[in-house]
Amino acid sequence: MIAVAGFAGRVVAVFGLGKSGLSTVRALEAGGAKVIAWDDTEAKRVEAAEAGVTLEDLATRDWSDVAALILSPGVPLTHPEPHWSAKRATAAGVEIIGDIELLGRTLKADNTGARVVAITGTNGKSTTTALIGHMVKRCGGDAQVGGNIGKPVFELEPPKATSVYVIEVSSYQLDLAPGFAPDVAILLNVTPDHIDRHGTIENYAAVKAHLFANQTAEDTAIVGVDDSYSSDICTSVSAAMTQKVVPVSIGKTLGRGVYVLDGILYDSTGTQTQKVGDLHPLRTLAGAHNWQNAAAAYAAGRALGFSRDRILASFESFPGLAHRMEIVAEQDGVRYVNDSKATNADATSKALATYRNIYWILGGKSKEGGIETLTEYFPRIRHAYLIGEASDEFARTLDGKVGYTRAQTLDRAVEGAANDAEAATDELRVVLLSPACASFDQYPNFEVRGDAFRDLVLKHLSEKGRASA
Ligand code: ADP
Repeated sequence: MIAVAGFAGRVVAVFGLGKSGLSTVRALEAGGAKVIAWDDTEAKRVEAAEAGVTLEDLATRDWSDVAALILSPGVPLTHPEPHWSAKRATAAGVEIIGDIELLGRTLKADNTGARVVAITGTNGKSTTTALIGHMVKRCGGDAQVGGNIGKPVFELEPPKATSVYVIEVSSYQLDLAPGFAPDVAILLNVTPDHIDRHGTIENYAAVKAHLFANQTAEDTAIVGVDDSYSSDICTSVSAAMTQKVVPVSIGKTLGRGVYVLDGILYDSTGTQTQKVGDLHPLRTLAGAHNWQNAAAAYAAGRALGFSRDRILASFESFPGLAHRMEIVAEQDGVRYVNDSKATNADATSKALATYRNIYWILGGKSKEGGIETLTEYFPRIRHAYLIGEASDEFARTLDGKVGYTRAQTLDRAVEGAANDAEAATDELRVVLLSPACASFDQYPNFEVRGDAFRDLVLKHLSEKGRASA
């Protein structure tokens, strides 16, 4: 655990007692702060009290001795309107920050030489964070991976000279990190999402841009330039000429920066362009969207001082993340892919764009617009297997365009898709769970649905193995 620096002997209010909130309480106390905590939900308060947290009703308590309010990232800071605890803090002139800000300040105070790589963007954060963590380990660094993915930041190990904190940062967390200055900051992309929390897309983009605001000449900004918001941010960060800036593109040749053309990764310094390698063979980073993640990770590896060869070698051994185009098995020309995280058509489009000869399992609780936007990929589908509530709606979209079976449940869908794919003869066939739907009609969440798919595939393959033995 990391102890928070800078608040010894002072009173700190913590609002929001989920996983990261509780961990922040412990880290503040370990640093000698006097923590008073609260949550609107009684069950959370009971749980916190049982864990030994000191509760005080922040709605009625006097705030004159409070040094800071640490807010959980899920609690509204500005939109749709500030939470009451934020209003009280503002009225009392108390700063409102989050765990990422506290981590930044603590590492600065410790001055061990530990470095921070922070990753944000609308899509691809977790994949890029996990990939960079893996790369740092393979290149000999002490990777501490957390934040919005996996462990809350204060549960990571205390800093030492070789530590590289690889932190996934959501826009909610950035909102609460006014002074955060990562050594390497990555913005992958900005597309409309989470507007409920930030009011407008312009606000949302401004929050993302803030990741670069405190960087200095030693630091590196890595910025995707393939969407207009992110590209504008890259232009303004470059114009300020403070930190080093590395633009990243998939599909565009850049005068200076890191880019991918037809799966080949290039690194251009402005005067020299180097062909770094071919990304096609990287099975766990398949698809143009993953090439964006890989290009950004590569740029981060270079900023951390790793060699091109070691970076690329580390990509080859990246296991990938569960439920995001996760390759569950590959046998007799059939690849089984678990993309259960794809809970809307946009996410599913990434998987459909990556493969051909697809035996597509889809359905669940449908989202607005259904799968209408996916028709351009229908020629890649050999057959579709419908599950869950969305079956009637999706059958109407597929009618006359793609052959389909109403499988209803995942076990029947896997069995049908696996048998059909095995019987076909195309070079690579793909049994793909990419539902374009929420899971709630049949499963508690996308993880349980993806785990069920994986189990069913492995069971099918082991039964097939026994039958042919
Ligand atoms: P996040 O943590 O930002 O939600 P993930 O890495 O978990 O992102 O990926 C979630 C989904 O987003 C993936 O299944 C894929 O469909 C899509 N995705 C991943 N990387 C990108 C990218 N760079 N650009 C666009 N979409 C992406």
